[in-house]
Formats: sequence, C-alpha cells, structure tokens
Amino acid sequence: MAKSRVTMQPTRAREVSTQAVQMLNPDAWREGKNSYQQGYTGKWRKARLAYLAKYPLCVRCQAEGRVTAANELDHIQPHRGDMKLFWDSSNWQPLCKPCHSRKTALEDGGIGAARRG
Ligand SMILES: [Zn+2]
Repeated sequence: MAKSRVTMQPTRAREVSTQAVQMLNPDAWREGKNSYQQGYTGKWRKARLAYLAKYPLCVRCQAEGRVTAANELDHIQPHRGDMKLFWDSSNWQPLCKPCHSRKTALEDGGIGAARRG
C-alpha cells in the first residue's frame, strides 16, 4: 500500500504591500509634508463633514452603549499616505475625539514600539 503523501499546500505569499514597508518606518510618508500634502485638503474637509453629518455618532462609544457625538473621521486601516485607502469610505468610521486619540496612540505606539534601535 502506498504511503499517503502529505501534500503541502503552498501558502500564498501575501502581496508585499506598502504596509510591510510602513511597519519599518510608519511615519516615512509623513516626512516633509504638510497636512495639505498628506491629503487633508478642502475636498477632504467637505467629505469629512458630509460623512459626519450622515454618521454623527462615535462607533466605539456606541459599541459600549454610550451615545457620543463623533467629530473625527477615522481611517479604520491607517492610510499612511495611501490615497486609495484615504478616500475609501468603507475604510472610514466616525469617532469622538477621545476614542480617536486612543486609537491613534495605539497605532503609533503599537507599530512604532516594535521598531527598536
Ligand atoms: Zn467615542
């Protein structure tokens, strides 16, 4: 009887995304750019206002049973200068300022903390 062969399913190599690069230097895209160059244009401000008018409550607070007005449009997946992510409204969520600050601090601290030396 033939031994059953163990076939290794090749795990698909994930696309080397810009994210991988950003893990090394998450703030690289930001260097030497003002907020306008980072994508925060008048167009963005308008889109943000329209979005917050439509979704006026902080989703994080809502998840905890609190009703808090959102005044920040957060990128669920940090865009780090990626304009496709930046303008992808499915990547947006309304947050209040404290929730947004907490999330941002986690992202910056979380990824940045792994980078030592
Ligand atoms: Zn909140």
